Amino acid sequence: MAHVSIQDLRKQFGDSVAVEAVTLDIADGELIAFLGPSGCGKTTTLRMIAGFIEPTAGAIHIGGTEVTHVPVHKRNTGMVFQRYALFPHMTVTQNVAFGLEMHKVPMSERDGRIRQVLDMLHMTRLKDRYPRQLSGGQQQRVAIARALAIQPKVFLLDEPLSNLDASLRVEVREEIRTLQQRLGLTTIFVTHDQDEAMAISDRMAIMNNGVVQQIGAPEDVYERPANLFVADFLGKMNFFEGQTVSHDLFQSAHGAQVRAARLTQDIRHVGIRPERVRLVAGAQVDNALPGVIESVTYLGSVLSIHMRLDSGERISSLVSNSAEFSTVPRRAGDRAHACFQAGDCILFS
Ligand code: ATP
Repeated sequence: MAHVSIQDLRKQFGDSVAVEAVTLDIADGELIAFLGPSGCGKTTTLRMIAGFIEPTAGAIHIGGTEVTHVPVHKRNTGMVFQRYALFPHMTVTQNVAFGLEMHKVPMSERDGRIRQVLDMLHMTRLKDRYPRQLSGGQQQRVAIARALAIQPKVFLLDEPLSNLDASLRVEVREEIRTLQQRLGLTTIFVTHDQDEAMAISDRMAIMNNGVVQQIGAPEDVYERPANLFVADFLGKMNFFEGQTVSHDLFQSAHGAQVRAARLTQDIRHVGIRPERVRLVAGAQVDNALPGVIESVTYLGSVLSIHMRLDSGERISSLVSNSAEFSTVPRRAGDRAHACFQAGDCILFS
C-alpha cells in the first residue's frame, strides 16, 4: 500500500510563506493533480513530498510510515522533472541504470528492470543513443523510464509536459495515465494547465497563494467551485456582483436582474459558465438579458462571443459552430439576449 498523507504542511522562505496548512490524503493508486497559477506553491509542496525541501512544519507519511525528515533516496519516490534532468554524457540505458545504482538495486536485477521499462515506454530501439540524439518527447520518456525503473511507491511529476509541443503533450499525457493505471501507481502530477489536470487526474487540488482552495474530482470542482478563485481559474466564468432580492431573484449593482435558484441573503456573486449562455434574438427562459454583441472570436468548433448588456455588464458566451446554431445572432453589432437557466447559476457568498 502506498497512500500518501500530508498533514498541516507549511514552508516558509525567509519572511514569505510559500505553502500554508496543506492537508491532503492521496489514496493508493490514485492520481492527483496539483493545479494553480505560477507561484502558488505546487512545486514546493511536491518537493517536500519528494524530500528535496525540508518543511517548516507539518508531517508527510507514505504507506503509513512517516518520512518528513527521511532523505530523498530513502523515500522510494520516483520523480520526473520539467527539464528531463538526463545526463548528457550517458546513453539511454546508462541514464536508467544510474537511477538503479543510486537506489542500490542489486546488480543481478538491473538489466531486467532496464529492459522492462524501456520496452514499456517503447524506447528499446533507442537504448544506445545519447540525450542529444533524442527528441523532447523521447527524452521525457527516458526520464519517466528512469523514475519507474526503481519501482517507486509514489510517482511524482513536476510539469513533465511543458517542454513538449501541443500534440506531443496529449500523447505523452495519455501514456503516463495508461501506465499509471496499469501499474496502480500512487501519483502526484503538478501542472498549471487546467485541461491537462482535468484530463489526467482522479482528483485535483487547486492551489492559490500557498493554500489549497478545493480538492475534488474534475467534474465536481468544475461544476461546484468552492469560491470565486476556483470558478475563474478552472474555465472562465461570468459574474454578477450584487445582492439577493428574494429567494429566486438577484440584482446586480448595475441593475441586471438575474433569476437563480435557492438564493440566500449572504450571496454576493452569481456566476454562469459561458457554455451555459445562449444567444437568441428574443427569448423566454429564466434569464434573457438584452444587449449588443461586441466581439466574436472564431475558434473552429465554437465561437467565443462577448456581449455588453444594456445594464452595462459584459457577458461571454461559447456558442457551438454547428448547423443547428447557424441562425443565432453572431455578428458584432447584432442585438441579442443572453439567455440562461436559473438552475445553471452558481452562487457565491
Ligand atoms: P510555477 O508554476 O511557476 O513553478 P509553483 O506553483 O510551482 O510555480 P513554487 O515554485 O512552489 O510555485 O513557489 C511558491 C512560492 O515560493 C513562490 O512565491 C516562490 O517565489 C517562492 N519560492 C520558491 N522557492 C523558493 C526559494 N528557494 N527561496 C525563496 N522563495 C522561494
